[in-house]
Amino acid sequence: MKKTIISVKNLKKKYGIFEAVKGISFDVLEGEIFGLLGPNGAGKSTTLEIMETLRQKTSGEVIVDGMDLDKEPNKIKKIIGVQLQTSGFYPGLNLLELIELFAGLYNQQVDPMGLLELVNLTDKAKSKYKQLSGGQKQRFSIATTLINQPKIVFLDEPTTGLDPQARRNLWDLIKDIRKKGTTVIITTHYMDEAEQLCDRIAILDEGKIIALASPDKMIDDLVASGFEKPKLVKSANLEDVFISLTGKEMRAE
Ligand code: ADP
Ligand code: MG
Repeated sequence: MKKTIISVKNLKKKYGIFEAVKGISFDVLEGEIFGLLGPNGAGKSTTLEIMETLRQKTSGEVIVDGMDLDKEPNKIKKIIGVQLQTSGFYPGLNLLELIELFAGLYNQQVDPMGLLELVNLTDKAKSKYKQLSGGQKQRFSIATTLINQPKIVFLDEPTTGLDPQARRNLWDLIKDIRKKGTTVIITTHYMDEAEQLCDRIAILDEGKIIALASPDKMIDDLVASGFEKPKLVKSANLEDVFISLTGKEMRAE
């Protein structure tokens, strides 16, 4: 049995009179990639930011690695990695300098080149953040979440706006992070991504969880309910065509 690392019970969040999160409960298991899916405005970022201690909840209980969010938020901060808003990076510093800056803020010893190697950016070590492509910026921001060697990493739509190669590259990176035993919580709009990456997903709609299971189980349940695709599915899709024509490898960007 896998251990529960995050437990959320009856979580509610109101913005004024508007209830964005309407009493949701779920557990995240240690070492899994847990996906929060749902349309825009469903409450994914709100839920994530509450778990990250960055936003106040209205009510409910959140326990992170045995620590109560209400009582020990500062201890929780130490064991989580949060993807920063990209605007938070000093544009004039190079990647090594930025990592050293963050390491100093976290009071952590890091191996900056090792970290850049993990996210495949060693050749950009001396480049400034503003000189990176979209995919490289995303990879770098994920690298910064790992500086404090967190037990849990939170990623809010890390692949939005990336091309298919950059997205796949990021999937590999996220799987590598999980392989090291780190728990990953990710939000995404891409169903193929959730299917590829996530051990389990919660589908959020209008502030409520409407399904929670592994992607496989959800698909099997739908099929068992008598669902049929309106037309015969081809054994490849347009993205497969695109990747097969343009190659899987990352571009110089
Ligand atoms: P998602 O990330 O799933 O798109 P959000 O958690 O960002 O959803 O937002 C959920 C709902 O709460 C949306 O209707 C959004 O407009 C609203 N909301 C988010 N942040 C605020 C805020 N600071 N003030 C008021 N309403 C907000
Ligand atoms: Mg969001």
